[in-house]
Formats: sequence, structure tokens, C-alpha cells
Amino acid sequence: MAHLNNQSKFAAVLPAGGLGKRMGATVPKQLLTLQGKPLYFHSLETFLSIDKIVEVILVVPEDWVSHFERELSEESGFLKEFRAKLKIVIGGKERWQSVREGVLAINKASYVLVHDVARPFVSKECILESCRVLEAQGACIVARPVSDTVKVVQAGLVQRTLDRNLVWLAQTPQSCEVALLKSLYQTIEESPLGFTPTDEASILEYFKIPVHVIPGDTLNDKVTTPKDWERFSAIK
Ligand code: C5P
Repeated sequence: MAHLNNQSKFAAVLPAGGLGKRMGATVPKQLLTLQGKPLYFHSLETFLSIDKIVEVILVVPEDWVSHFERELSEESGFLKEFRAKLKIVIGGKERWQSVREGVLAINKASYVLVHDVARPFVSKECILESCRVLEAQGACIVARPVSDTVKVVQAGLVQRTLDRNLVWLAQTPQSCEVALLKSLYQTIEESPLGFTPTDEASILEYFKIPVHVIPGDTLNDKVTTPKDWERFSAIK
């Protein structure tokens, strides 16, 4: 368990290594322009502007590295103070493998917040709350409760109804100690998981590590489909 410590240093790993096929565009969705800038810029700038976050690792698809490097070069006008904190690394086939590459590149921080760039409107308050809970209580995720009745459906048929008071939708940031995640990746290397984790909490749950929940909101939802894009484009 982490102690409260003014010396704590935080890193952010921002997975942007997907190809965004569900968006149906010819370029990865994180590069499409949302409200005047590429989708990934929104959360990237938010994390870079927080002083207690000392390194930000952006994980990108192999074929698009030079595009990101050009777009984030000093010549492009990207802020110099931001550039000093930023590292770009190449991602993997699955999201969790992209995150692993990002976490392995951390060399200053003891804590990491993982945030999908496909969630452009994460607030600074949500990030700072994640830092606070992580330091004081250990691993945590942002998640939001559901308001609809939740069904398990298979082949178009309802199988059963879940107790919606127990169901939360996982968002990001998902936060953990760096040393812990690195050691779990090592364990997985030696003895692979029997499933593909779609978030960091799934890995922590598998190893029975408690994960605290911070309530999130719809503004921090993920942009996945063209319909989501329409909704997010209209947000002021
Ligand atoms: O595919 P999904 O919407 O769950 O992706 C969430 C985030 O993970 C996105 O920001 C996407 O770019 C990133 N990702 C990644 N590497 C992959 C797949 C997805 O960094 N191989």
C-alpha cells in the first residue's frame, strides 16, 4: 500500500496505439480533428499541463510514429516545456500490450495513471483525484454507475438480468504503482493470462489486488463510433 508522500512522482501512459476501425475512417480515430485539434491532443495537453505528472508516455501505432513525431515536434509549435516531459513509444497488438510498452518506458515516476486518448474530455479534477486515491489507498480506476437495467444477452436472446446497483462502467484513468505493474507484466510473461485484458483493472483483479473506484461521468466516455463522434463534436 502506498504512503502519503510529497515526493511521489506520477507518470501518465496514454495508449493511442489502436487503429480505431470501428470509426470507419482511413486514419486512426485519435488523429481525426475534434473541436479544432486531433482527438489525442485533448487528453495529452491536459496531462502535460499538470505539474505533479513528471513524464507522459504516448503509445502510438508503429506505422504512424513519424506522423505523431512530426505533429508533436518543436518546429510544429508544440510547447517546449511540454515536449521535455513527453516520450513517444510504439504500441503492441492489443491495448494492454501497448500499455505495457508505455509502462516499461517509465523511468522517473513511482505511480502511473493510464488514460485512453479516446476519452478526450477527462477533467483535471478527475486526474488529481486519481493521484490522491492512488497515493493514499492504492490502485484505482474511474468508473460510472449505470442507470439502465442491465441484461446478459447471447445470440439475440436475454439470458438474465444483473443487479444494476453492482454494475459500473470502467473508464480511465486507471492507476497503479509502477513497480507493481512492471512485476505483474513479468509474471504474465512467464505464465500468460488465459484472456485478453481490456483494461489494467482486469489484470489487477486477476492477481487479487484491490482496486478502488472513483465515480466518473459521461463527459469522460470513450469516442468509439461515428455516433459518439457526433455527440462529442457538439459538446461545448
Ligand atoms: O480499442 P479501444 O477503444 O478499447 O481502445 C482504447 C484505447 O487504447 C485507444 O486510445 C486506442 O488507441 C488504444 N489502443 C492501443 N493499442 C492497441 C489498441 C488500442 O494503444 N493495440
